[in-house]
Amino acid sequence: DDAKLDAKAVERLKSNSRARVCVLLQPLVCYMVQFIEETSTKFDFIQKIAKSLPDSNTEFYTACRQERIKEYESLFLIPNEETHKQILMTIGLENLCENPYFSNLRQNMKDLVLVLATVAASVPVFDCFGFYNSESRRTNDTDHQGLPQEIARHCMIQARLLAYRTEDHKTGVGAIIWAEEKSLQRSCDGTGAMYFVGCGYNAFPVGSEYADFPHMDDKQKDREIRKFRYIIHAEQNALTFRCREIKPDERSMIFVTKCPCDECVPLIKGAGIKQIYAGDVDAGKKKADISYMKFGELEGVSKFTWQLNPLQNNAIELHDPSSTRENG
Ligand SMILES: [Zn+2]
Repeated sequence: DDAKLDAKAVERLKSNSRARVCVLLQPLVCYMVQFIEETSTKFDFIQKIAKSLPDSNTEFYTACRQERIKEYESLFLIPNEETHKQILMTIGLENLCENPYFSNLRQNMKDLVLVLATVAASVPVFDCFGFYNSESRRTNDTDHQGLPQEIARHCMIQARLLAYRTEDHKTGVGAIIWAEEKSLQRSCDGTGAMYFVGCGYNAFPVGSEYADFPHMDDKQKDREIRKFRYIIHAEQNALTFRCREIKPDERSMIFVTKCPCDECVPLIKGAGIKQIYAGDVDAGKKKADISYMKFGELEGVSKFTWQLNPLQNNAIELHDPSSTRENG
């Protein structure tokens, strides 16, 4: 059956290939990588690490990015041109083996890897930073046990990618919801017991045209507050347009690139989400158009915020030699 489906997919690609193949063939806008690099450097998670360093510099981001680029190049790119052509012919895309299509394809794949690595490095593997629950309450309840850092980082990178679809000119926010099945019975889609529930980014209501609502510059404060009323938050979009139900007996989790605001916190809890992974830079702040007072007080939902591992902190204070084991 899979072979039949594969054949059908190839047929589709061949006949009306434009829509799908064009994704790769379409070159990225030239300033895209630079834009993502700049916004990633300013991103809360990177800034939080920078503030923990003696000179607050963000050079570590550049190093993390280089590492990611190398990793993704070896994962996604095909170094040998002949091998690449063979693969294209096998999947019925021999028309892409001719130049300029072939060289364009290879260049666009390189650019795409650059973009992905640049975004991924904004949730870096650095020092002992990760998503940790700062509340001292320890529990054996599996609903409140955190994910392995590697998986949490991966999901947050997905949310970071979503943030770039924003319609808000000031801050892009992305949110993604995953849940974990109680009994593992799903096929090998690579996500184990975890399955996708929904995702979103901050944007005007579905169906609106881009120009329906006024866009204005930062100085026009009151107009901006008015505009803000129309923007639907990433968390709300993810909850509203989810493709699966949130089951009360399963461990469900939302990943948000920013601290959830006072409007979203009760909605997340009300939807039955068990865990929130987010940044806490804005927690406890009150701004003209938005406030983040409820996140800190929220109970019944576990909060894992981007920070230095609190246990590691203690270990360093106690001069535990094992704490430096992996930092050499
Ligand atoms: Zn919100």
